[in-house]
Amino acid sequence: MTNSTQNAQKNQAQSSAKIPDQSFEKNLHTRFTFYGKNSLKWKRKCILLLPEIAKYRIWEKKRFNSIYEYAAKLAGMSHASVNVALWAMRKVEDKPELKRVIEEKGIEIIRPIANIATSETAKFWAEKAMEMSKSTLTAYAKEYKKSELNSPCADSKNYYENQNLFSDLDLQVKPEIAEKLQKLKGQGSWDDLMEKFIDLYEQKLEENKPIPQENAKKYVPAKIEKYVLAKTNSTCAFPGCTKKYKYLHHAWRFALTKTHDPDSLIPLCKPHERLAHAGLIENENLPPENWKVKLEADKTNEKWLKVDKWVAGYYTGNKAGQERPSS
Ligand SMILES: [Zn+2]
Repeated sequence: MTNSTQNAQKNQAQSSAKIPDQSFEKNLHTRFTFYGKNSLKWKRKCILLLPEIAKYRIWEKKRFNSIYEYAAKLAGMSHASVNVALWAMRKVEDKPELKRVIEEKGIEIIRPIANIATSETAKFWAEKAMEMSKSTLTAYAKEYKKSELNSPCADSKNYYENQNLFSDLDLQVKPEIAEKLQKLKGQGSWDDLMEKFIDLYEQKLEENKPIPQENAKKYVPAKIEKYVLAKTNSTCAFPGCTKKYKYLHHAWRFALTKTHDPDSLIPLCKPHERLAHAGLIENENLPPENWKVKLEADKTNEKWLKVDKWVAGYYTGNKAGQERPSS
């Protein structure tokens, strides 16, 4: 090949890379997505077979050194994913509903619930696993476990006492601050002092509390946002959660009220916001200290459901990736 033909080919390659043909790119992407989806589907089928492959030592009969080698060579599975698969399959052995979830959504979604689902609750967990993302399911399962451990757990005050959260506070402060605190505490208790601080902080916030904005556009006004975030220092307001907030959640759905009310705008992390829109938070219209997860969503408020379904579409449906409106 001469230099000039090489250059010509090179130029051609460069120019085609520069001006991408949109339908060509779309086609590439479509094919990749299609094959990927199918490879996942087939991989899940392999996972479902693994326990029996192990039980009947098929790998040995086919002259592999181990089930890991068998799964790696025949299905491209890593050592770790074989372990996870065997572990999870053992957990769902007597739970056909959860086996179906594995077939539909893969093994990972089972992880947060594998140790808490029983054959009595398998149907319940299968429904939740089908409709939630892994992080939302993890948050939900965590709350579920807490309420199981502490039941009956009538009010949130009890809940905190049972959790003994206060002893978990990491209060390492500089000597000069410790000295001041010690003085302020005097003969009283730390509880009293901290409560005093919190009261002062809340009073200060309350003085500058903005009025609700009615007939509003979707964006929360900066003043209201600032006030709402100061209440938790931008932490998710769900009891016990210490994640940074991701959404300002309208406890009264914005789509229905068109109002940004500083009292019912709640900073939430993504999993807890999703639980709210799944209708799984009890007392959602009370301050978050009163919140608990519930077992079933209330399906009687149709308008409300419609909004939540619409929001869910922004995560899972074809609206994914678009900017999500206030809700
Ligand atoms: Zn949270």
